[in-house]
Amino acid sequence: MDTLEDLAQRVRGCTDCPLHTSRTNAVPGEGPADAEILFIGEGPGFHEDRQGRPFVGPAGNFLEELLQSIGMTRDQVYIANMVKCRPPDNRDPAPNEIAACGKFLDRQIELIDPLLIITLGRFSMSRFLPGQSISRARGRLRSVGGRQVFPIMHPAAGLRRQEMRASIEEDFAKVPGLLDVLRMQAEPATPGSIREEPAHYATETPPPSLWDMLPTAPDAAGANTPPVEHPVEPQHPTPDEPSSDEPSSDEPSSDEPPAGQQRLF
Ligand code: SF4
Repeated sequence: MDTLEDLAQRVRGCTDCPLHTSRTNAVPGEGPADAEILFIGEGPGFHEDRQGRPFVGPAGNFLEELLQSIGMTRDQVYIANMVKCRPPDNRDPAPNEIAACGKFLDRQIELIDPLLIITLGRFSMSRFLPGQSISRARGRLRSVGGRQVFPIMHPAAGLRRQEMRASIEEDFAKVPGLLDVLRMQAEPATPGSIREEPAHYATETPPPSLWDMLPTAPDAAGANTPPVEHPVEPQHPTPDEPSSDEPSSDEPSSDEPPAGQQRLF
């Protein structure tokens, strides 16, 4: 069976899409193999390309601040990206590049098997929730293909706009509670044992199921069903200064895709 390091070696030698021609270093991702949280960003930026590590620029500094705010450090989480090589001039990764690189992310998810996947920005959210608006989807836990997915805006967006920073901080503050519940869900029940529910989710009668306690986004019928799949609106970058793992935009967008859009997955 391959390991994360085997995978990283394959990424470093990969020539499966045009991005390999302009990279300085591929950025496979980093973190413990048994991390409870897997963060997924968009792609390496200038600093990441130089160092071969994810989220090491200004957005990475903000991500570390956010982790500290919930009592965690980056060495407790796994950090990966949709594409492992930097798109030139910080442009958006193209659909064929995302498709070519998807096999590496898929395998990382399998190997790490995280309790919680936190997507950073619209591109990584769209891998799980195609066609969704991040302004609507952010901060709500979704179950997608057996994975627990929590979309938030990209930290780089929080560096640009104060209101987005506040949204990101608000969403991050929910993470410890989500982990509490997901850990309980993952815990094998011992016959005859009584589980203690996290205090901040405790309720009077009737007691909710664990699933009911999660701050999920119900559909119109109230069920936690996966969303309808729609095409994804491509992002429009500002290809100027080099930056770190920076998406072009996390601006709210319409849920209705305009003509000519392409679906990423
Ligand atoms: S972005 Fe992914 S698929 Fe493209 S060359 Fe880099 S590792 Fe290979």
